[in-house]
Order: sequence, then structure tokens, then C-alpha cells
Amino acid sequence: MRGVIMHAPGDVRVEDRDMPTIEQSTDAIIRVTATCICGSDLWPYRGVEKVDHTPMGHEYVGVVSEIGADVKNVKVGDFVVGSFVASDNTCEICQAGYQSRCVHHVMMGSVGTQAEYARIPLADGTLVATPGTPDPELIPSLLAASDVLGTGWFAAVAAEAGPGKTVAVVGDGAVGLLAILAAKQLGADRIIAMSRHADRQALARRFGATDIVEERGREGAAKIKELTNGLGAHSVVEAVGTQESMDQAIRATRPGGHIGFVGVTHNVSIDGLKLFFSGVHLHGGPAPVRRFLPDLIQLIWDREIDPGVVFDLTLPLEEAAEGYRAMDERRATKVLLTV
Ligand SMILES: [Zn+2]
Repeated sequence: MRGVIMHAPGDVRVEDRDMPTIEQSTDAIIRVTATCICGSDLWPYRGVEKVDHTPMGHEYVGVVSEIGADVKNVKVGDFVVGSFVASDNTCEICQAGYQSRCVHHVMMGSVGTQAEYARIPLADGTLVATPGTPDPELIPSLLAASDVLGTGWFAAVAAEAGPGKTVAVVGDGAVGLLAILAAKQLGADRIIAMSRHADRQALARRFGATDIVEERGREGAAKIKELTNGLGAHSVVEAVGTQESMDQAIRATRPGGHIGFVGVTHNVSIDGLKLFFSGVHLHGGPAPVRRFLPDLIQLIWDREIDPGVVFDLTLPLEEAAEGYRAMDERRATKVLLTV
């Protein structure tokens, strides 16, 4: 089968890989229908994280082609969506809603789903079947549920977005934009998008943003305070993972407010005394997408939400290298690969 291999930073190739096989009785194999390139795939691409002939990809939708002897919740032929972390969905951590930190979790990046087929560990806990075979137009949205929508949704929930709340979103990548969609669905009164890109501002407004702030850093946080009677937002989503974005999120949150942080942090440190006096709630980490998947699939199925519009470039799997280049050069927000 064909699959994406990152040989070294900046060197992405589509090559022959071994067909995955059932390794554990709890595994399933899926024929991947669509996969995508994640903002986090750019860290190794840019040499910030180590990479050496690594299979890539952790987002996927597809059709079950084979199941292990102990798989009961999905069957061959089901169209399925799964999270970027495989989980048993039965341990205490999963039952509490933190499937991305399951005691048996497997990061799907270690499988590499930018490929024609993928082995899904812990298939019963990981995969959610759609109500039927989806219309092709729903596939980008279902794929978004696999990571960016689920992550944006968790960020909004962790930030306690809801009625009566003003929500500020730091980061206008796919996750930040979908956190806006989530905040809107959760009933937030006012949603402030922090973005200086016209195309992303337009998408932010389409998803429910009521205000746009173009300033960054201290100026950005000051602007949020200006818009909230000097208090700061009730709920702030941090969807970048840099020192600047985390500082901006903490500064923009009112005392007693909540921050949902889902940007994978790189060299971020938080000043303990500043955090102490900020009086904010901090909650984040790798999003437990599996917690939200059944509801998100239903919202997409019923055409209540259309998160798939964050994909602004679609390429065949064979042209994955161009997809990486386009995201690296910011010519694309999010690239869908058809398989
Ligand atoms: Zn678990």
C-alpha cells in the first residue's frame, strides 16, 4: 500500500509501505477514505521535532476492512471515525472522559494514517461508526471530527464556554476556528477571534465570532480587556502552543475565568507568581476527542455544523509533499488528502 514517509525535515515522500495486519485481537484494519495534514506535522517538517523515515498522520476516516477476534462494536464495512489517540474507553480515566490519557492509549501518529490502510488499536474503544455510508460532501466534516473539531470542542468545554460568557480564542488555525464553532454551539454570548488574516477572519465570523482582534501579545490582551469592561474574557481558548500565545491567554482571562489550552506547547514556561495572582483556571492537554465523537458525528450527520470548510486544499495522497509545502508556506490552513 502507499503511505507518507517523512525522511527528514522538509523531505516528504509517498512510498510503498507494508499492508497493516491484525496484531492484537482488539485491532481493526480500515481502508482509509480521507486523511489530512495536521499543524502538528509541521513541527518535524520544520526540524523542531526529530524525524527520521517516519510514517506520518494521525487523523482518519474510513471503512473497516478486517477486525480482530475480540472486536464487537464495529464490523467489516462500517464507515468509522476515530480519534488521534486510540483508547480502550473502559478504564477509569476513559470513563471520566479523558480518553486521550487512557491507561492503554496508543498515539495514532505511531501508526501513520496518511496511507491507504491503517491498523486501529483498541478498535472497540476507539472507533465510532457513522449511522450509514456518508454522502461524499460530509466526509471533510467527519474527518475534521477526528482531531481539529474534537480538539477545538474540548478547548471550548475546558474554557467553560456557554450562555452568558464572553469567549476569546487565541490562534486562528483550524483548531482555533473550530473552537469558535464549538463556543457558538455551546451558547456563548460573545466570541472574540484573535486573527490578522482576512480569510481566517471571514471563516471565524462564519463560525460565530462576533468580534475580531488583530493585535497580539500584550496589546491583544489589552484589547480583550477593553472589550470586556476592563475585566478580561470569562473563557479563553489557547490553540497555538507558544510562549506568546499562552501569556496572551492568561492575560486576557478575568480572575476566576477559565482557559482551555490545546496548542501542543513548545518551550513554554509559566511564571508561578503571575499564574498565582491571575486567579484563573487552567485546563488542557491532548483533547479527549473520543468523549465528543458520538455527538459531533450526529451534529455533522444532521447538517447542524459544517467544520469541513476548514479544509482549504484537497489533494490526492500521492501529492502529500505539496500539501506539506502549502501548509508550511501558509498557502493552506488545512490540507485534506483523498485516498
Ligand atoms: Zn482507557
